[in-house]
Amino acid sequence: MDEERRRDLLSRLVQVDGALRQPAITALVARYGRAAVTEAVRESLQSLREKILAGADVEVTEQLLADVVAASLDRVFSPSLCRVVNATGIIIHTGLGRAVIPRECLDALEEAASGYCLLEMSRESGKRSHRMEHVEELLTRITGAEAAHVVNNDAAAVMLALGTLAPEKEAICSRAEQVEIGGSFRLPEIITASGVKLVDVGTTNRTYISDYENAINENTGVIIKAHTSNYRIIGYVARPRLEELVEVGRRHGVPVVYDIGSGAFVGFSGEPIVQDAVATGVDVVSFSGDKLLGGTQSGIIVGKKEHVYRIKKNPLARAVRVGKMTLVLLEALLKIYLDPDSAGERIPALAMHRTPLEDVARRARSFARRIKREKLPWSVEVVESVSELGGGSTPGEEIPSMAVALAAGPVTADELARELRTGKPCIFPYTRGNHVLFDLRTMLPGDENLVIASLKQIAASV
Ligand SMILES: *Cc1c(COP(=O)(O)O)cnc(C)c1O
Repeated sequence: MDEERRRDLLSRLVQVDGALRQPAITALVARYGRAAVTEAVRESLQSLREKILAGADVEVTEQLLADVVAASLDRVFSPSLCRVVNATGIIIHTGLGRAVIPRECLDALEEAASGYCLLEMSRESGKRSHRMEHVEELLTRITGAEAAHVVNNDAAAVMLALGTLAPEKEAICSRAEQVEIGGSFRLPEIITASGVKLVDVGTTNRTYISDYENAINENTGVIIKAHTSNYRIIGYVARPRLEELVEVGRRHGVPVVYDIGSGAFVGFSGEPIVQDAVATGVDVVSFSGDKLLGGTQSGIIVGKKEHVYRIKKNPLARAVRVGKMTLVLLEALLKIYLDPDSAGERIPALAMHRTPLEDVARRARSFARRIKREKLPWSVEVVESVSELGGGSTPGEEIPSMAVALAAGPVTADELARELRTGKPCIFPYTRGNHVLFDLRTMLPGDENLVIASLKQIAASV
């Protein structure tokens, strides 16, 4: 491009004020507001100017400028934390927000959070009450515990429980249970950070009840048992049952805390059930609200009144307290569990886990047929897939599933997967060799439409 052409192109770039008077840009002002559009116009003109100076032959028409500005505004205003189609087959996918919130919980949230809500006031007296009242009775009724408290997440629940029950004292923990959970939760560090001294007993594979008993002295504040949620030690192993720990704790006047993490109310093979743990008489049980419970992020503490009341009164409880949104979602979730028979259908995480393979296969075949009808540039087949529960539970346990596989055509599998992730809506498939796979077990009803629309768009642009 010669100098004259370049100067000509640059001279045709309007000023910001001029651009704001163009009808296509004025329409954007009505939608996004003057401040944001002015900023986007300034940036767009600047980047077009740089392109021309770098040698690009871009003739900036009104339409082109409006398109560039609209794309920039769309980037700014589209939610960054957006809805995602999870076609990975991982049910509790921490990176994709763990459990999908049940529809009826969202309805309750919409209802309560769109105005003022009865967070901490008594209707009877008109005076302040306690926010835990909305969930404590439900939690004690479902789990059989005497008292309950809810905090921001299970990591906070463990810290608060240990810091309350054993300040500046010792916590006895088996070497086999010093678990690390993704996102930098390391039990030994959490124990230390709670102001409690870790005393580890036993070996990696074998810990006996006598190891605990021998470690108890006048400085012992608590015995902690952690569910080894994301790993299993198999072979020559020994570990006392929870009942035995409870018995030793009672004999020595030392409270026993059981951190379950995954925290199911209904059966998942190999995962402890909260009610069973409570029934052993253990002093405190803690677990997550967004793993196998299938709700929103929270840390639930249930147990003996004397301990849970002290936990509630700990000044740190205020620092990790939950907000109204969490409580509304949790209250609605707990009400689903009042009818455990229907929970498996009403809670997406449970429903995905229980869907029979034949149903997933039928859905996969129908999805594949629909994609084929679109005559897209990828060959389509239904293949076996493996789902997993995820969220650091049932490690190594494979859930047979079915997927639709697209053989890479005009672009490689990795490129196609990237196009799907960066498109709108955002879709997360997984890849195997040169195939992009969509596991139907974790796709919500109607997600097929979103994937097909996205594939059509990608096909049109390659
Ligand atoms: C997941 C897990 C935690 C952490 O729970 P968050 O709710 O993510 O804080 C703690 N302990 C165990 C055993 C877990 O599995």
